[in-house]
Amino acid sequence: MAPGVDGAAPPEFLTAVLVPSQTELQLQKVPLAVAAFPSKSGNLVMRALGSVAPLPDHKHLKRVRKAPDDPSLLETVLCILPADAVPSPTPAPATGTGTGTAAASDAADCTSTSTADGTAAASATPAAGTDGGSDGGEASGVELPLERLPEAVRALYSQHGGVRLRVFHAAGVAPQTRQQWEAWMKLWPITWRIPDNGTPVTEEVPVDARTQSYFETHMRRALELAAAAGPADNAAVIANPPALTSVAEAVDGSAAHPLHHAVMVAIQGAADWDLATWPPSASGSAEGAAADPYSRGGGGSGSSGGQGMEVDGAGPGPAEEAEEAAEASGTGAAGGGGGEELACKRPRLGEGPAAPSQTAPAEAPAGTRPYMCTGYDCFVVREPCIMCAMGLVHSRVQRVIYCRPDAVHGALGGCRRLHACRSLNHNYEVYRMELKPRE
Ligand SMILES: [Zn+2]
Repeated sequence: MAPGVDGAAPPEFLTAVLVPSQTELQLQKVPLAVAAFPSKSGNLVMRALGSVAPLPDHKHLKRVRKAPDDPSLLETVLCILPADAVPSPTPAPATGTGTGTAAASDAADCTSTSTADGTAAASATPAAGTDGGSDGGEASGVELPLERLPEAVRALYSQHGGVRLRVFHAAGVAPQTRQQWEAWMKLWPITWRIPDNGTPVTEEVPVDARTQSYFETHMRRALELAAAAGPADNAAVIANPPALTSVAEAVDGSAAHPLHHAVMVAIQGAADWDLATWPPSASGSAEGAAADPYSRGGGGSGSSGGQGMEVDGAGPGPAEEAEEAAEASGTGAAGGGGGEELACKRPRLGEGPAAPSQTAPAEAPAGTRPYMCTGYDCFVVREPCIMCAMGLVHSRVQRVIYCRPDAVHGALGGCRRLHACRSLNHNYEVYRMELKPRE
């Protein structure tokens, strides 16, 4: 069943969005035992807590705040409460329910920016109804019987004149973004530091009209193929932007072979196309052969899913090192035989925004040798599984565009976010372009 493909009406798409490579954190709450102490004993209490109940795994939590209703008191986090020590919540007072729920859903909202994550966020939300909020009745927390405290903390509480022993809930992990920080602060004060690598990409950025049009052309083709493919209903198209013709096309063949997912077959097709376009004999010299990525992968496309991928995954090989050296030297390698070939390689495409026109034309001049799918885009109807997503890493595609998210098996935003894994030797951008719901 492929909506939009059967019948005469062409499929209509929603605007494609960049699927963030930053893993989005869900709000996880931890119960805090909080007590109020006279402001003047604040330092003493903090020092004592530092040795009795340090919080090494929750450094983002502010340990102390001024009591909102009484400036002579400091509310202090005594410890994280074990789950079995948390008293069952009492019904919220009528005046506090509205604001508490609103604050809690604010907090949940910022974690559910993708549809795949929506269900997880929704299931985490019900607990929020009773303990979220900072400005309603919930702000005062839920009373905590003294005997629920660990013994050492209990002694400290009594010794320093603690009062108002209560349970609050706070964000259990440090926020990744300013938005999360703002929302989660409503539960209990937390700190946020801008990550070392700059502001993480966590928003689903829509593509521009030109890119959308290019995406739609190829996705329409993939949907056509999938619709004709029978029950498997999946197909992949690999294209060399901005060309509107494809380099390789494949339908799901997993009924015949368990590894023949549409993406895997399409990658093999692209490899065959490359080999036919740039035959290995054309590289000539022995030096050229040494820099030939195919020579490490065992040559034939038949083995490209096995040994070649493992070799590639082990890290940069001689070809990449030479390429990096050539890039670093700035002069390229206009000189010798092997260098000539490296200079002809298509550049590795970096972090920049989508720019379909910056790659080599489909009809590349003879003698050039791109590394596999460098600069290509892969359009696939269903969100790729982990195997296919890794296959795409090894093939070095530039972008992956899928139409139907898969919350169960999807590796690019569904159950996993493989493109967020910066330790891989290649990263591609991922876009989700869903069909418009039919009315
Ligand atoms: Zn797959």
